[in-house]
Amino acid sequence: MKVEAIVPTTQVVDILCDVCGSSTTTTIGTQEFGTLAARWGYGSQHDGAQYQVHLCETCFFEALANLRQVYRSQNMLAEDYQPSIRTRLDKLRKIMSLSNDEAIGGIIRLIKWA
Ligand SMILES: [Zn+2]
Repeated sequence: MKVEAIVPTTQVVDILCDVCGSSTTTTIGTQEFGTLAARWGYGSQHDGAQYQVHLCETCFFEALANLRQVYRSQNMLAEDYQPSIRTRLDKLRKIMSLSNDEAIGGIIRLIKWA
């Protein structure tokens, strides 16, 4: 026998950016956002801490650009400094006037050749 009842439920109707507070719902009703998540475990300085941050498209890419800039500024004078793979890919693409796919293909060939 089925027992049925009307029960209240909750539903996510929007996701707000945790940095700027703007809605991540697009004009066509989809939600576009990036998620920054961490679950720190034993041995870390933040053992047991969990984070999940939702970011709108603008804040997500600004965060990435800021992280890269901080990394570059902190490490650019080190003798063993290596720019990120994205930076190296962008440099290669710019120097050789390649599309992203052509540059990625070139790097894959270089890796296989080395
Ligand atoms: Zn935002």
